Amino acid sequence: MDFTVPGELLDLKERTERFVREAITPLEGDIRLTPHGPTEEFRLELVALARRAGLVSPHVGREWGGLGLDHRGKAVVFEAAGYSPLATIAMNIFAPDEGNMHLLEQVGSEEQKERYLRPLASGDVRSCFMMTEPAPGAGADPSMLLTAARRAGNTPGADFEISGTKWLITGAIGAEFAIVMAKNEADDLGPAGATMFLAPMNAPGIHIERVLDTLDGYMSGGHAEIRLDGLRVPESAVLGKVGEGFRYAQARLAPARLTHCMRWLGAARRAHDIATDYARRRTAFGKPLGEHEGVGFMLADNEMDIHTSRLAMWHAAWVLDRGEHGRHESSMAKVICSEAIWRVVDRSMQILGGLGITDDTIVARLFREIRPFRIYDGPSEVHRWSIAQRVLRTGGLAEPHTRR
Ligand SMILES: Cc1cc2nc3c(=O)[nH]c(=O)nc-3n(C[C@H](O)[C@H](O)[C@H](O)COP(=O)(O)OP(=O)(O)OC[C@H]3O[C@@H](n4cnc5c(N)ncnc54)[C@H](O)[C@@H]3O)c2cc1C
Repeated sequence: MDFTVPGELLDLKERTERFVREAITPLEGDIRLTPHGPTEEFRLELVALARRAGLVSPHVGREWGGLGLDHRGKAVVFEAAGYSPLATIAMNIFAPDEGNMHLLEQVGSEEQKERYLRPLASGDVRSCFMMTEPAPGAGADPSMLLTAARRAGNTPGADFEISGTKWLITGAIGAEFAIVMAKNEADDLGPAGATMFLAPMNAPGIHIERVLDTLDGYMSGGHAEIRLDGLRVPESAVLGKVGEGFRYAQARLAPARLTHCMRWLGAARRAHDIATDYARRRTAFGKPLGEHEGVGFMLADNEMDIHTSRLAMWHAAWVLDRGEHGRHESSMAKVICSEAIWRVVDRSMQILGGLGITDDTIVARLFREIRPFRIYDGPSEVHRWSIAQRVLRTGGLAEPHTRR
């Protein structure tokens, strides 16, 4: 595995770091960052700053206004941006839009790309991804999908009608459009299974029932519960092929969970830097905190957790860049990173003492953001379970790739 970062990528990383430092961190206290993410006015201002710096949507192809970064390129740039979560919003690389752009680029028709991907990639609009349902519907086990899409008539090419309930849908408030996952019956277009549909959020039949009050607060629009009541979409709204929804969900999630690792790793470094600075300056019992073994060891453990996370993430990105599906590598990276990053932020808070739980530093805020990461994009237990299935099947994960 080659760890060399090309010069132009290092330049981009440095530009991103400068952007975060000079343009974004001074805005972190802006009151327009609400418990349900930044207001739309604030978000658009942030995107305008990133646009001026040439940093909007660096992950999408150049024809859509991006820089066409590969997965390792994203690993470098997203981590740099993650140093301030607001920067990931400014650069339009946050969830769920980033994953939606990836999916649209991969499987959208040319017409769908023009209609949905282009404005999304420019940062002018937001989107949401509707898969999860309240119990007893799809959650950790997506195959429990209850939302159903049925043809509205027997004639070929008839519209689909979608009904069901979705929840924990990030960004639904204020989103321009949704990618909706629903189960379908066998059809002339494909087998029974799950299908993804594109729908404008102002379509009749999409009802936002409530916005949930949650622990985290950075994601634009917060998280909502949605009722789909006879949402009618034409055949041309099918994203990709009928019956391929679960496969596309994996194609979206493997890289999307990795980009969460990238962004939150940057946030973990921020917490660690703040704790290190405090451990150098603050004294107790006659010496700086960091000189006490208990604190020094926490800093050392942070450093090792950050290092291990970066290696796991980089390896998974490398596998994806080779064109492999990378499902297991991204599962492992997701568990390693989400748990290690959590420990880093928790230790950083401990080192800061009482200061850590105030909003005088960003650490308390990051603590609230990081906890849900062990649940979304697959809870740790589900990833462990799926890794175990593979271990039992194959006798252990293949050794790291040595040949193409
Ligand atoms: C902040 C946040 C944002 C989200 N955004 C979106 C979004 O935009 N769109 C969307 O569709 N969804 C979204 N989700 C939903 C998320 O994907 C689900 O929460 C996740 O898939 C888990 O589903 P669940 O909450 O229904 O948990 P459940 O399915 O009820 O599972 C509960 C717990 O059971 C345990 N468990 C489950 N299966 C196993 C197993 N096989 N072995 C051992 N333990 C197991 C795990 O500990 C799990 O946490 C978001 C969630 C959060 C927290």
